[in-house]
Amino acid sequence: MTDTTQTKPPKGRARRTKGRFDTDDVTKSIVWARAAGHCELCGDDLTRDVRVGAPLRWGHVAHILPASPKGPRGGGHHDATQAEAKSNDPDNLMLACPGCHTKADTNDEGYPAHDLSDLHAAQVDRIALAARTPQAAKAITLVVLSRHFQTLNLIAKGDLERAMSAEGVTAISAAPPVILPEPMGARDDDYWKTVFRQVRHEIERLLETAKTFHGDVPLLAVLGLADIPALMVVGQAIGDRMPRQLYSFHRISRVQWPDRDAAPPAFQYTPPPDGNGPVALMLSISGKIPERDVLDVLPDARIAVLTVTEPSTLLVQNRKVIHAFVEAIQTPLSDLEALTPDPIHVFPAIPAAFAIEFGAFLTMQHRHPYLVYDRTEGDRFAPILPLGYPQEAPRAL
Ligand SMILES: [Zn+2]
Repeated sequence: MTDTTQTKPPKGRARRTKGRFDTDDVTKSIVWARAAGHCELCGDDLTRDVRVGAPLRWGHVAHILPASPKGPRGGGHHDATQAEAKSNDPDNLMLACPGCHTKADTNDEGYPAHDLSDLHAAQVDRIALAARTPQAAKAITLVVLSRHFQTLNLIAKGDLERAMSAEGVTAISAAPPVILPEPMGARDDDYWKTVFRQVRHEIERLLETAKTFHGDVPLLAVLGLADIPALMVVGQAIGDRMPRQLYSFHRISRVQWPDRDAAPPAFQYTPPPDGNGPVALMLSISGKIPERDVLDVLPDARIAVLTVTEPSTLLVQNRKVIHAFVEAIQTPLSDLEALTPDPIHVFPAIPAAFAIEFGAFLTMQHRHPYLVYDRTEGDRFAPILPLGYPQEAPRAL
């Protein structure tokens, strides 16, 4: 990284000083803005003299790939053309304090270009996200209820909007809830297609409404209350097309978070035993699933378990709990997928928001068949919903 703080604005292309290309002032101001004025390596505020509490600009706009062919991290392949281009590419320029800048440039093996680039990209993304969420963020709202839950009138009009505004998020429009159809018979493939299309259609409609607003893609504030497989399909329909912010219904605090500061529970994962039986994953989170309930329908199942110390329907104290679940499930799913090409049989007892995230996660990152079970007549588990790839996963019904 080379200090470019002292350079003057060149007109047009990058100017060259002593074999180094200078960064123009516009690019430099973008680097400062994207880093929100903080050192991207140690986090120091570079816009303030902390000793006297006065404004002071003391950071450097520093290069990942250098401003000259011979600079740090140049390797053998960095020529003058590349050095010139990289000197005005904000993706190649980080904001750093003088101390971190020196460390990075005198130890280029300890600070390889790909590490710095990853760190820089992640930092810029985080800052952009913090800048638009949650304060003053705008969101379109998606409330999905099953007919069954709707009749219970659990979610009153305005509940979601109130929970959002407690977090500084404004609803762009208050759309009525999407009421999922009652399955006419079994919850079969046609039924799931209907649910998927209905939710997808509503999202399209909401996005169309949001088009009249300027700026960032709005958040999608999501609240779902339905059976677990249906919520997984809702997650699939949402996918990864826009940033989403999940809300959760809690029977005491309703849509408000019961405790915004509570630490998420520790998730514990037990991998399945060796063998040849089908692989089952029990998600004992909102309640404890007895192993025998799984063995009743899948007698040779090799059961893996993801659980928490005290499974409870009141587990979702805040959104951190939802994020912790998404983190906790990634490695187990990858490990299970590596064990078998066959469907992974999922027995979920999970909060609604987890079900939505589970469905969204499988669309984005996974190419493996899953078969989701739900309790049916006599409280017995039955295979209800095939998810993931390939699409010709065995039909359960
Ligand atoms: Zn620093």
